[in-house]
Amino acid sequence: MKKWHLHDFNTVLEELETGMDGLSEEQVNERLKKYGENVLPSEPPPSIVKIFIRQFISPLIYILLAAGIVSLFLKEYIDAGFIFTVLLLNSIIGTYQEYNAAKSASALQNVVPHLAQVIRERYKAEIDVKEVVPGDIVILEAGQRVPADLRLIKTNNLEIDESLLTGESLPVAKHTDTLEGEDISLGDRKNIAYASTVVSRGSGLGVVVGTALQTEIGKIAQFISAPAEANAPLVQRMEVFSKNVALAVLGAAAILGMIALARGIEAQAVFFMAVALAVSAIPEGLPVGLTVTLSIGMNRMAQRNVIVRKLVAVEGLGSCTVIASDKTGTLTHNELTVKLLQLPDGKKFVITGEGYNPEGHVKPLEHAVLDEQDKISLRRLIEASVLSNEAAFYQRGETWRYQGDSVDVAFLVLGVKEGIKQEELLKSYPQVGVIPFDAQHRYAAAFHETNGKIRAAVKGAYEALLPMCKTMLNEKGGEEPVDPDHIEQMAFKISEQGYRVLALADGLIDKPADSNPGEAANLDETSLTGLTFLGLVGMIDPLRAEAKAAVKESIGAGVQVNMVTGDHPLTALAIARELGIAQSIDQVITGSELAKCCAETESDKFSSIVGSKTVFARVEPLQKQLIVKGLMDKGHFLAVTGDGVNDAPALKEANIGVAMGSGTDAAKETADIVLTDDNFASIVAGIEEGRVAYDNIRKVIYLLVSTGFAEIVLFTLAILLGFPIPLLAAQILWLNLVTNGVQHIALAFEPNEGDVMKRKPRSPEEGIFNPLMIREVLISGAFMGIVAFGLWAYLVGYLGWHEFAARNSVLLLMVLFENFHVLNCRSERKSIFRMPFFSNRLLIYAIIIAQAIHLVSMQIPFMQMVLSIEPITFVQWFTTMLIASTVLITMEIFKLFYATNLCHKKC
Ligand code: ADP
Ligand code: MG
Repeated sequence: MKKWHLHDFNTVLEELETGMDGLSEEQVNERLKKYGENVLPSEPPPSIVKIFIRQFISPLIYILLAAGIVSLFLKEYIDAGFIFTVLLLNSIIGTYQEYNAAKSASALQNVVPHLAQVIRERYKAEIDVKEVVPGDIVILEAGQRVPADLRLIKTNNLEIDESLLTGESLPVAKHTDTLEGEDISLGDRKNIAYASTVVSRGSGLGVVVGTALQTEIGKIAQFISAPAEANAPLVQRMEVFSKNVALAVLGAAAILGMIALARGIEAQAVFFMAVALAVSAIPEGLPVGLTVTLSIGMNRMAQRNVIVRKLVAVEGLGSCTVIASDKTGTLTHNELTVKLLQLPDGKKFVITGEGYNPEGHVKPLEHAVLDEQDKISLRRLIEASVLSNEAAFYQRGETWRYQGDSVDVAFLVLGVKEGIKQEELLKSYPQVGVIPFDAQHRYAAAFHETNGKIRAAVKGAYEALLPMCKTMLNEKGGEEPVDPDHIEQMAFKISEQGYRVLALADGLIDKPADSNPGEAANLDETSLTGLTFLGLVGMIDPLRAEAKAAVKESIGAGVQVNMVTGDHPLTALAIARELGIAQSIDQVITGSELAKCCAETESDKFSSIVGSKTVFARVEPLQKQLIVKGLMDKGHFLAVTGDGVNDAPALKEANIGVAMGSGTDAAKETADIVLTDDNFASIVAGIEEGRVAYDNIRKVIYLLVSTGFAEIVLFTLAILLGFPIPLLAAQILWLNLVTNGVQHIALAFEPNEGDVMKRKPRSPEEGIFNPLMIREVLISGAFMGIVAFGLWAYLVGYLGWHEFAARNSVLLLMVLFENFHVLNCRSERKSIFRMPFFSNRLLIYAIIIAQAIHLVSMQIPFMQMVLSIEPITFVQWFTTMLIASTVLITMEIFKLFYATNLCHKKC
């Protein structure tokens, strides 16, 4: 590979047979064939074998393995065989579920596009990073991941974070000069930008010298994908829970075992009883059940344009109490149209036409006339906006295409309407420097050569521009001293109507003494003085149609909506009013007020001030963190949106960081979720799905824990009251892993109960085992356990049945209990009779299958032997089913009296 840093960039361009206008489509296709796609090896998803082995790492499995091995020694081959078969089956099912979940999770990550900006055939284009080829001219902007190794051609305060490659934690300032020294370290090659490093500041242009494995990062073949999270926190908490249960169960089994031994039951039977007990109480289906439920939640979210990057978001979304959302692009379309122009003398003009269609023209407001002088002034204003512009708007055949920031595009459209084309204008005013827009400074500027002087053109917020201006245009086309108050009044009036207001200025400045032609040396923000204020522009950014309804739904669900924007407070308020986010100016606070307030007041006061506001205007991205801090101190569980590089700290700090699919790589990579459509309504949809997923997780846990508890009750009663062991180890395994195993996964597919968005958010501290869960588990478990014991005692004690036949009946009763109880678990509060019965068909099939497997097994000699079961008569079955149905009635009564009350008190 060449040492590109040793060569002048023009030589590099020549060598790669490319130029500043970029490659042609043909060249690109050829090179794609030759060099292949620009993809780096990413960490492979966990292999099936690994997942399979992982299934055996669980306390339950250890107990069962031990039991299996002991059975072998005791020459109980059938039991041992059964235990091993069930273990194997359980692991195969678990592997299948987990593998699917992992696969669909990684497929989801690819939905979020990873784009690069390049110049091809003279125009800027956004392409998939995979399609970048050597020789491509790449545009770098803050927040982007560098798509390939680049020899830099232009830099503008460009700083790159190369910690990934070099370990250096501070960003490196880049330049374009040719370097010396063949073997200087990567960190010292300041004219090269490396693939996978992140632009932290400024902008630049570079030519691709290496893609994919030809890049430095590719050479060391380091996996750059973020380390995958091992498990969702909820899953981790449940693992701890399972472990604790396992320990408690071992203790209890030991005690009960001793009692049984003391009663004179033979040791071998006691051993199997202890194993059976342990198996019954440990919720073995839980880890897989949770993984599957979370994965279904993720898929449902993805269908609604929410891509989950960190699993914690699935459960976290349901706890959100505040959404702090960007305005532009999230609540609005971010398709701006210039509608209004106002010259400093107060004359207003309207512009006809809509969107990015360059048909329309400027006409004076009301009955005024557009005189020659106005035309000259307007032309100067529009020229300034087209010159200080980073976007592109161009015609390909019949269609107009655009690329870049929507504010910039809006100005280019205005230019075309008035016959001012960027390309032509740049021919008469060659550009020698730019200050790209950044949300912190709120303006963009560009410098152009004209007659041996430099013309500076600036567009941005009027507050940012006024200090740069000495004069303003007057009605005669002359200049007079600028009147900031007058301009501010005009800007207020336009903002109040909901327009986004931008100001324009230009001026001639002296060429810095030491600059060469065509270079940007020493042209920076300090050069922007003594300019002329040219006027104001009002743009409309239409609201997203769904936004208003989504705000309403969100507020109905107890989730406050805040708007965070860099825009003017009055513009923000006008839009917030329309959306129902704010009613009066008291609810608006600006970024600078916020910063002052944070520095001066104590933190609880600060957080209550932040808590009382809903619109945050003129906020710099870094100030978002203050808002996050204030709201979190107040006890809120917060979702914050962002897209820029400076948004990353706020996204990280908030409970849920929400990035826009169109945002920078830096934002997307720190966020917990990414919205593929940038739409506020999707966050609300995400909250809804998050609540549904959490509900379903609870349902799965409810079912598993309560049936395990029922078995414990049954055993404890039997042993304490001196009855024989009511179920054999194999039978309990069958109940827990086979018949219930078929059912519990189906609960993960339960649809929205319908009222999730009418409830208040769940407290993030509330554990799964809240009072409702504890009571429903205790009541249903105790009920099933006692009834099953009653049947056992009645059959063996009262009727004097043989244990074998009695166990056969008790086992059937337990399977039927499970079948009915899973219906109870479909909702913790709602009566099953008030839910559409077939809304989760999968569950109905699961119940039928679970019951059928058992009934069929009763007929098969082999299964009869393994499970110690036998066929029964229809009457017997029917009676047992009637007994089992009582669990439904019991829990219906529970819901009627207890669950609904609890809900009314709390929600
Ligand atoms: P928002 O939070 O609404 O996206 P921004 O931070 O993008 O706000 O913009 C804040 C202010 O900066 C705007 O009100 C406008 O005055 C100015 N501004 C926005 N985009 C540009 C641009 N491309 N060029 C110049 N100024 C801009
Ligand atoms: Mg913006």
